[in-house]
Amino acid sequence: MEDSKISQESMTECRLCGHKAIYAFSKSLVSEFSVNYYECENCQSLQTEVPHWLDKVYSDCLDKYDVMSVSRTSESLAMVVALWKILLPNNAKLLDFGGGSGLLVRQLRDRGINTRLSDKYGTNIFAQGFEDSEKMEYDMVVCFEVFEHLSHPSKTIQDIMSKNPKTVVIGTCLWKKQGQNWFYLCPETGQHIFFFSEKAMEYIASEYNMNYYSFRRGSLTVLSNDTISPLKLLVLKIILKRPFLKILRVLLLIADIGTEKNQRKDREFLLKND
Ligand SMILES: [Zn+2]
Repeated sequence: MEDSKISQESMTECRLCGHKAIYAFSKSLVSEFSVNYYECENCQSLQTEVPHWLDKVYSDCLDKYDVMSVSRTSESLAMVVALWKILLPNNAKLLDFGGGSGLLVRQLRDRGINTRLSDKYGTNIFAQGFEDSEKMEYDMVVCFEVFEHLSHPSKTIQDIMSKNPKTVVIGTCLWKKQGQNWFYLCPETGQHIFFFSEKAMEYIASEYNMNYYSFRRGSLTVLSNDTISPLKLLVLKIILKRPFLKILRVLLLIADIGTEKNQRKDREFLLKND
């Protein structure tokens, strides 16, 4: 057991806003490391001490306990399609940041949504040939189940914003002082290390001069350069609720209009660029 020196570490510097973060509690991660958690006095995020155990817990981009990854991708697909349809023009460029295997990118491309993938750690299986490159810019960047994994959130957010997106979609559960037994801390995997609060999302929005919108009880954040009209906001609030999203998921499964054409187009693109 590696013990943290709690007495010497009653506070740390917040890795998002740089303010003082105060010791909250400790937990045993992957039954091996005793780790301190801190809550920022300014942005109210909860974060672990600077993580030193990540090499040990990332043997693959997915953890074996994450049995929901495929069904979550189907839910993310419905959310992105709804946001794309309501907020963006049809030819908008999207980036799935931290997109792992590329399953979401492939499914979006199947539906004619011009999406690329970036992931520093995952292995792109389904969207090969549609990776992000340095100079590419996007209308919308989506990041699902990424933010809670960030070792250096301010740097990563800077990287995302360097893509000049008009809209950023962040799927992560927000810290609302749920306590040390909150399921989202996932101590069994040791991979969740930063937990944004609502105030932290507002902080990011103000740092980048964007508007902050919250959906699904805070688990879906949308940052936008534009002001979303009250009518669009109302429609999004309704569609993004679980029962409506389930209907959209079914519709996306059965209505594959244009899928073959889009797949053919991608295949031709790949053959041409081989
Ligand atoms: Zn902070």
